[in-house]
Amino acid sequence: MRISRLFAKTTREAPADADTISHRLLVRAGMINQLAAGVYTYLPLGLRVLHKIENIVREEMDKAGGQEFSMPVLQPVEMWQQSGRAQSMSDVLFNLTDRREHKFVLGPTHEEVITQLAARYVQSYRDLPQLPYQIQVKFRDEPRPRAGLMRGREFIMKDAYSFDVDEAGLDICYQKMVEAYQNVFKRCAVSTMIVDADSGAIGGKDSREFMVVAESGEDEIINCPRCNYAANTEKAVSAKARIDNGQPLPIEEVATPGISTIEEVAAFLKVSPVHTLKAVFYTADGRFVFVVIRGDLAVNEIKLKNQLHCTDLRLATDAEVREAGVVAGAASPVGLKGFKVVADDSVTMATNLVAGANKPATHIKNVNYPRDFKADFVADIATARAGDKCVNCGGKLAATRGIEVGHIFKLLTRYSEKFNAVYTDEKGGSHPIIMGCYGMGVSRLMAAAIEQNHDDKGIIWPLPIAPYQVHLCPLYRAGSNVAETAEKLYADFQAAGLEVLFDDREDSPGVKFNDADLLGIPLRVTVSPRTLEKNSVEFKKRSEKQAEIVPISEIAAKLKGLIKS
Ligand code: ATP
Ligand code: MG
Repeated sequence: MRISRLFAKTTREAPADADTISHRLLVRAGMINQLAAGVYTYLPLGLRVLHKIENIVREEMDKAGGQEFSMPVLQPVEMWQQSGRAQSMSDVLFNLTDRREHKFVLGPTHEEVITQLAARYVQSYRDLPQLPYQIQVKFRDEPRPRAGLMRGREFIMKDAYSFDVDEAGLDICYQKMVEAYQNVFKRCAVSTMIVDADSGAIGGKDSREFMVVAESGEDEIINCPRCNYAANTEKAVSAKARIDNGQPLPIEEVATPGISTIEEVAAFLKVSPVHTLKAVFYTADGRFVFVVIRGDLAVNEIKLKNQLHCTDLRLATDAEVREAGVVAGAASPVGLKGFKVVADDSVTMATNLVAGANKPATHIKNVNYPRDFKADFVADIATARAGDKCVNCGGKLAATRGIEVGHIFKLLTRYSEKFNAVYTDEKGGSHPIIMGCYGMGVSRLMAAAIEQNHDDKGIIWPLPIAPYQVHLCPLYRAGSNVAETAEKLYADFQAAGLEVLFDDREDSPGVKFNDADLLGIPLRVTVSPRTLEKNSVEFKKRSEKQAEIVPISEIAAKLKGLIKS
């Protein structure tokens, strides 16, 4: 490709709201262009990268026994009602109505469609296992589209689904997918961490995420450097210490004028927040929920939501708190009735806690569970933090940030039961098919690869996903034979099967080298009057500072050799 003919040009300016490196570089390099929030055009160079990643994904899925499909984006809303996700995913579904007033959604994922297909085509145990997949555009009306390709409202996902007769079959497939994912990420030259994950609205049993470790990641990963425990904060657990504050003492009321937060209470009474009981109020599917947790800990709303089995969870409004008869700033479940109380297990492992007295400006000391109040249920609903102890080995947990590029789930029969996707066994008995699902953010992976492979000048594409392999950069000078040599090399390289971006512009060396660094093509070949004096060209890898002089007669073979290895 001749740069002079490229549709999109490089630019110095990045969008004002581009706060991640990949977003800035993809726009500046002319690889993507925004049409609307979270909606992008893949310009020719960007599309080449996307296609290369897609092909790697396709090869690895095929190798794992997958069969490629293309399912409709346009999906009747009825199947989403049947699965229950018209409601549970309503916040991200794009809805539309056709001329006959039939309602549709734009597919954010395809469990519903594929399970209906399985119901139609899978009959007996002989038809199983199956591993359909597709690489396709998805639509989600994300509340906060951001960071270019990282969180789009229209994005490319690889979604695969497994169908098995039993859990043993599912386990084999799940493991195969773990390996296929690892192969994909290795081939794309991104390093990932596998973490335990929450199953979210999809529901199911086991679930793991593949995280590209990067500062700009939206997810926090809690991991143990000593053993291999790693989990998304949404799901992470830590070993909570028992806080022994002596034998339970009688409750004692203290005046706490003008005091309401845990920090204020702790400072006022000269105790550590670990000796306090914090009350947090939620509304779960319209019902008031009183949550208590040790004062130094934070409620993990995802754990809480899972424990409550609700679809809508949010902090209660001031009005809802008043209506429930709770004194905000001095509340505790001691002596209160009439609503659901959920306790984090931390409060059952501590003695003599300070809590609210349920009257203004008053607290009580020496609250003990279960002597002084009962929770409807006790569970781990706390956010694990760096510095906490690992539940597996007692090591000290650390926190890092990651970009979720893949998410795999064991769905079991959640969808097969809803869509009556059953198979008959050898004896004629009928069973719901055991399912798994496996998502990979293909367009997000493109951005994540840049987060891990760049410098202050631009992108450093890993060879297997680079838009072109070779950047041919002649430095023209009148009276020299740079132009004809470069034209010949361009033709020769292409004949040798190399993918070449040819900077045939009359610009200055500075402009050309800056663009070469920005575009990030891995292998650069510069032709100048100086190198031609020695019948040579200058060869440089984008990832290295040092250049070398290579005879013209050897350069094509050298490039081919590097690409092969
Ligand atoms: P997230 O937690 O980031 O919102 P998710 O859990 O909703 O993602 P899944 O439903 O598991 O995502 O989708 C599978 C994969 O698709 C994700 O692992 C991610 O890589 C990618 N993905 C999800 N949402 C987006 C998006 N809005 N833009 C780009 N890629 C996405
Ligand atoms: Mg996810």
